[in-house]
Amino acid sequence: MAEAGGQTNRDRHAWEVPGTYRVSDGVHRIPLPLPGDALRSVNVYAIEHDEGVVLIDAGQHLIEARSALEKALSSLGFEFGDISAIYVTHIHRDHYTQAVALRREFNIPISIGVGEESSFRAISEAASSPGNRNADLLIEAGAAELAKALARLTSAEATEIEIFERPNAWLIEDEELALSGRELRVLTTPGHTQGHVVFVDFAHHLLFSGDHVLPHITPSIAFEPVRSPLPLNDFIHSLAKVRGLPDLQLLPAHGPIQASTHARIDELLSHHETRLDRSLEHLFNGPKTAWEVANRLRWTRRERQLSELDLLNQFLATMETKFHLDLLVHRHLATTESSDGVLAYKAVDASTIATDSMDRNVARDVVN
Ligand SMILES: [Zn+2]
Repeated sequence: MAEAGGQTNRDRHAWEVPGTYRVSDGVHRIPLPLPGDALRSVNVYAIEHDEGVVLIDAGQHLIEARSALEKALSSLGFEFGDISAIYVTHIHRDHYTQAVALRREFNIPISIGVGEESSFRAISEAASSPGNRNADLLIEAGAAELAKALARLTSAEATEIEIFERPNAWLIEDEELALSGRELRVLTTPGHTQGHVVFVDFAHHLLFSGDHVLPHITPSIAFEPVRSPLPLNDFIHSLAKVRGLPDLQLLPAHGPIQASTHARIDELLSHHETRLDRSLEHLFNGPKTAWEVANRLRWTRRERQLSELDLLNQFLATMETKFHLDLLVHRHLATTESSDGVLAYKAVDASTIATDSMDRNVARDVVN
């Protein structure tokens, strides 16, 4: 949720101006509008090939997004009927739901990472609504009041189960998508969501990164119906995995194209190590819940207090703090104690850490 500094507001939003932007031969970036003003646009990428055009992500199911996409495709000489496939990086509505809407009309096959299957199942089962799962987690994090406030907010929203219809195919690790004259390799990158995937075009040095690597913001972690036990650990491993590829051009779902995946991944990895250190420091003077630690940390590039964020972002920040604390436990730097369903985190005795540098090394190995 932290943002990079040093840019004016206008620079930061320049990538959102509607249009069709050529990335390289046959590859175009198409920013589409989103509702709300947190994330105001999402990039869809159109890749031309002999049998038409494929899309990486499809945007959100909105009239404005649909007409912006239609216009952009027509400037390339295509219409919706020419889309031969839609490959989606992850289940979030701003990437997936317009794909479903287009499939209903044009019968376009949709593929998404197999790791999203459990979340699709959960969405279709009323008993495991994401709202309940989030409330349980927030109560455990010591944020019962926030859980109540969020419940009031979300009960007013209609559920959109029907737009989360399942895909036609599940993408798996190392799958090759052969388009005429181009190969896209699927890499699974769990963290932002369990089933997040990125697409690599090695021949043209391109990484379609979805929300896994974003240039201006750090992606939220595990905002999804079904979570892995250690989503931040997954995310850091997935960052290290993509860092192990050659340096590629970064084609993100939100934000402008960047020259180097390596440079941005290094920033993201160091951001999370700093957050882990800060979170641990707050445990030194006594056990704390995730909510208490989140209230002591600062948020966004403007260093805001948690209470200054809107409810959704307070929720995401509390969850992210919990995932950092869980990772400290996994690295043997903290422990937990539960009372009345609320989890408090305790730093492992500092003297033990100082004298036993082995533990630190074990902790570092987890990242490498
Ligand atoms: Zn997302």
